[in-house]
Amino acid sequence: MKSKDAKKLILILIIIPFQFTCEKNNQSISYSSPKIIDYPEFQFKLYAGISESIAKVIYDSLTTNKDRINNHLRVSNMPNLIVSVWSNRKEFDGVEKQRLGTIYPGTTGYLNGHAEMCLFYHNATASDAVHEFAHLASLVINPNFSNRPRWLWEAVAIYESREIVDFSKWSSIEKEFPGFTALNQYNSPAPYKWGYPLAKFILDEWGDEAYINLILTNGNIRSALGINEDEFITKFQLYMNKS
Ligand SMILES: [Zn+2]
Repeated sequence: MKSKDAKKLILILIIIPFQFTCEKNNQSISYSSPKIIDYPEFQFKLYAGISESIAKVIYDSLTTNKDRINNHLRVSNMPNLIVSVWSNRKEFDGVEKQRLGTIYPGTTGYLNGHAEMCLFYHNATASDAVHEFAHLASLVINPNFSNRPRWLWEAVAIYESREIVDFSKWSSIEKEFPGFTALNQYNSPAPYKWGYPLAKFILDEWGDEAYINLILTNGNIRSALGINEDEFITKFQLYMNKS
């Protein structure tokens, strides 16, 4: 091999990996551009495979529930929101990874900032949208509320979006409260299982004012409810056992 050919080969070897990297990078950002539909208070971004009629069903679900949620959470100024909807799982996961830095497997909805919900379309997307709306409404009254604490963050969204659970039918083993540490985990069903009973308990025992104060204080049980965490757990376990 002549030295000139060797130089050429080295150059090619340097260029080839560089081109691969470029292609890889281009792939990771070249997602399909969405179709935009503007409704009053909501802008929809519809990605490949999502029709206008799907958007209308989600929009109707949001408009049916938004005033009730805003009234209960005492939200006076809700910003206009973006509702982004995907039907391609790979693309949804890819964008989630870019935005959140991780993928929560099987997730069908998450927030991007304080004014956008990102939804993966399936048969319950219309109610998923209301759940995400409730999260966004709770962020208006406390901008630092996101997953702080996780148990209350999910409890509020579940209760406000009326994901009603008839826990009176749970067995005595199912009614054993696992504690807040278990409920503050990610990739765990625990905050979703306990969200409704916890919110219902707080509202039944202390009422709306204390419930709002609990959100405003990021779950400070002592200052919002006037008892300590152990007392809360004892009281809650009693409430569960009696129901
Ligand atoms: Zn949630």
